[in-house]
Amino acid sequence: MEVDSATCECCGLREECTQEYITQVKANHDGKWLCGLCAEAVRDELKHGNNKGYDGTGDALKAHMSFCRKYKSNPAVQVADGMRQMLRRRSGDHSAASVSPPSKK
Ligand SMILES: [Zn+2]
Repeated sequence: MEVDSATCECCGLREECTQEYITQVKANHDGKWLCGLCAEAVRDELKHGNNKGYDGTGDALKAHMSFCRKYKSNPAVQVADGMRQMLRRRSGDHSAASVSPPSKK
């Protein structure tokens, strides 16, 4: 199994992943690779953002990327912490278990 290094387009996190996993994640996010946390946040954004008129993953992705940039511009706040808080705030209808990143095979 070939392992490659992927960089999250949102928060810049680098992860060693199998090429199969990288391809799969890119296919789900308009050709962009996202770390597990960002991917989860985009899924969440899509699920909860229907009333914002999202057209698909691309719009949710853009919304999440601007969210990420906001946190990145504030060094006092960790992007991951901000996202966890966001997910927790919205987690009324799903268990905390669904917040964990997808498993890498
Ligand atoms: Zn990320």
